Amino acid sequence: MGCINSVKPVAKSVLIVFAHQSSNSFNAAAKDVAVKELEKQGWTVTVSDLYAMEFKATATQQDIKGKLKNAEQFRYGDEIAAAWEAKTLSDDIAEEQRKITEAELIIFQFPLYWFSVPAIMKGWFDRVFTGGFAFSLQKMYDNGSFKHKKAMLSFTTGAMESMFLPDGINGDMNVTLWPLQNGILHFCGFQVLAPQIFWSPAHCPEPVRVAMLQNWEQRLKGLMTETPLKFASSELFDMSFQGGFRLRPDVVMERETQPHGITTGHHIGKPLPPNNQLKAPPEGTTGTN
Ligand SMILES: Cc1cc2nc3c(=O)[nH]c(=O)nc-3n(C[C@H](O)[C@H](O)[C@H](O)COP(=O)(O)OP(=O)(O)OC[C@H]3O[C@@H](n4cnc5c(N)ncnc54)[C@H](O)[C@@H]3O)c2cc1C
Repeated sequence: MGCINSVKPVAKSVLIVFAHQSSNSFNAAAKDVAVKELEKQGWTVTVSDLYAMEFKATATQQDIKGKLKNAEQFRYGDEIAAAWEAKTLSDDIAEEQRKITEAELIIFQFPLYWFSVPAIMKGWFDRVFTGGFAFSLQKMYDNGSFKHKKAMLSFTTGAMESMFLPDGINGDMNVTLWPLQNGILHFCGFQVLAPQIFWSPAHCPEPVRVAMLQNWEQRLKGLMTETPLKFASSELFDMSFQGGFRLRPDVVMERETQPHGITTGHHIGKPLPPNNQLKAPPEGTTGTN
């Protein structure tokens, strides 16, 4: 029991989690490019088309098939972790977990909604990344359950790129991406590849849209050789309740002379390292420590 995620992923198996209502949308086109290109390269491609599946977005008691631990004081996190252990999760969650277990790579394809993923995809994270399966106190960040897998966000925006620059009206895209890339993907251990951002496809000319899809196809050819994004290693933190899981004082001191913080989130009061959530560190550098 409780070891489904320690199974080695099937080599060249990719899961695309897709959230768009329309098969003629730009998001669908980006998904189709990925399916076609990866299949051409010999990948086994599985698509979870969330709207087509009518995937349930709400985390409720119905997600547990067996007897509840405490029906009077229902606590979703406790109950869902126990259900994972007991193999009594609802069939739709178990099926998504099976797909994740097999996948070496997961691509999330979606339109940006309110600086985040659409609710149906957030519900997928809420329900499928259960305690025990996706994380535990011992298994998080670079010790996370999915440390042998890669994941990436591929998304469209309504806004143009300049609006998401550090001086743009929407603020820095690196900040927008931190909760998704650090708080969900890296938290669960994934090696996070740089996001693929299709800026404002609805407001640009057709040739620009075509070029964006061609660039995506080109990128997919070398995707698995890319260096993942940089996050602060767990080794830099005092991983105890007493230490509050904070950066060790010697690490903070060592950083005093550095021009930038460690990452977008771990900025330790310094200027953010530029494009930490958009680009991998330059070749030959290890990143954080
Ligand atoms: C609830 C909500 C919240 C939102 N929040 C945000 C936000 O916080 N920030 C933000 O920036 N935006 C936001 N948006 C806007 C949203 O992100 C964009 O509408 C979305 O990203 C556009 O992607 P699409 O796939 O729906 O585009 P579509 O409208 O489907 O496509 C754009 C264009 O591409 C064309 N196209 C389709 N296929 C192809 C192809 N193969 N080749 C060439 N062209 C093609 C289409 O015909 C269309 O002309 C929000 C929207 C909603 C509804």
